[in-house]
Amino acid sequence: MIRVTTFKDRRVAVFGLGASGLATVCALEAGGATVAAWDDSEAGRRAAAEAGATLVDLAVADWSDFAALVLAPGVPLTHPEPHWTVAKANAAGIEVIGDIELFFRERAATCASAPVIAITGTNGKSTTTALAAHILSELGADVQMGGNIGRAVLTLEPPAADRIHVLELSSFQIDLAPGASPTVAVLLNITPDHIDRHGTVENYAAVKRRLVEMAQGTAVIGIDDDWCAGIAGDLAKHAGWPAVRRISVEEPVADGIYSLDGTLHERAHGHEHEPPLSLDGIATLRGRHNWQNAAAAVAAVTALPDGDTYRVGLAAALRTFPGLPHRLEIVRRLGPVEFINDSKATNADSTEKALASFPGAIYWIAGGKPKAGGIAMLTPYFPRIAKAYLIGEATEEFAATLGDAVPFERCGTLDVAVDRAAADAIAADGANRVVLLSPACASYDQFKNFEVRGDAFKRLVADLVAERGGP
Ligand code: ADP
Repeated sequence: MIRVTTFKDRRVAVFGLGASGLATVCALEAGGATVAAWDDSEAGRRAAAEAGATLVDLAVADWSDFAALVLAPGVPLTHPEPHWTVAKANAAGIEVIGDIELFFRERAATCASAPVIAITGTNGKSTTTALAAHILSELGADVQMGGNIGRAVLTLEPPAADRIHVLELSSFQIDLAPGASPTVAVLLNITPDHIDRHGTVENYAAVKRRLVEMAQGTAVIGIDDDWCAGIAGDLAKHAGWPAVRRISVEEPVADGIYSLDGTLHERAHGHEHEPPLSLDGIATLRGRHNWQNAAAAVAAVTALPDGDTYRVGLAAALRTFPGLPHRLEIVRRLGPVEFINDSKATNADSTEKALASFPGAIYWIAGGKPKAGGIAMLTPYFPRIAKAYLIGEATEEFAATLGDAVPFERCGTLDVAVDRAAADAIAADGANRVVLLSPACASYDQFKNFEVRGDAFKRLVADLVAERGGP
């Protein structure tokens, strides 16, 4: 755990007592602060009290002697309207920050040069974060990974000169971390998202931009969308701002890493760095979107102050990346048929990445609670789909979009869909057949969340393999 000493002997209000909120309470108290903890939910308060937190009803508390309000990232800061605790903090003139800010302040106070890679973007954050951490740990570094992935940041080991923190940061977390100044910041991409919480896409992009602007050393920026290309261009114009390394899977770049065909080419000042790194055959990094993630992870790791020492062994480290659950996760192979769990694909954008990643016949399980826009944008990939197996509330809408272009079956539930898709895929001919769960829908109509949906898929596949006498 990281002891937060920067609020020693002061009173701090903490609102939002989930995992990161509870960690914040412990970290502040361990560092000598007095914490007034509160949550809107009775269950949250009970869990916090059981964990030893001192509950103070912030609705009636005296805010005049709080030094700060530490807010959980899920709580609205500005939109659709500031949470009532934020309104109280603003009225009392106290700052509103998050646990990521506490981490960076503690680092500034104890070991300002401790290496930190911070990764953001609309898509690919978790994959890039996990991959950067994997590369570093394969190459023998002392790595701590957390933030918006895995563990809350304040539960990690403290910053140190010979320890590298690799942090995934959401836009909400950056919004609450005005002092976040990582050694290397990564901005993968920006597409409109979370507008309900940021008001406009301009605000959302501005929050993401701040992270790369604040980088102490290098800003790694994917330039394949207009927002990020603009940010990279602006940063590069300013002397004294972080060095910019561009990432692209669409065009060669002069300073950074690009991949047009699954091989990473690195260039500095227009000169190619040898040798290029091939991603060919790395099943956990298939698809153009993963080329972007891999390029960004490699650019971030090699941009660290001793980054050149990580070049030896990079290619081998990429090959052992285990991938993340529920993102194009290889579940099993049954003869020539691969079963892929992409339950994290809760919208058509994400499913597009999955459909683009498999050149052979796809037996596609889709559906759930539909999102606005449905699957119309997937039409260009329909020729790859041997058959679709529809589940959940989206069934009729998806059936209408597929029309005569793709054969489909109304399966209702996931167990029926797995059964039917597996039978068809196994009975078919041809190479590279996949049974792909990539629902393009939220899971809430039939499952608690996408993880539960993906786990159910994995269990069904395991049962099926056992039944059919597979390995
Ligand atoms: P995040 O943490 O930003 O949600 P993940 O790494 O968990 O991202 O990936 C979630 C989904 O987003 C993946 O299943 C894939 O469909 C899509 N995705 C991953 N990386 C990218 C990328 N670089 N660009 C666009 N989409 C991506």
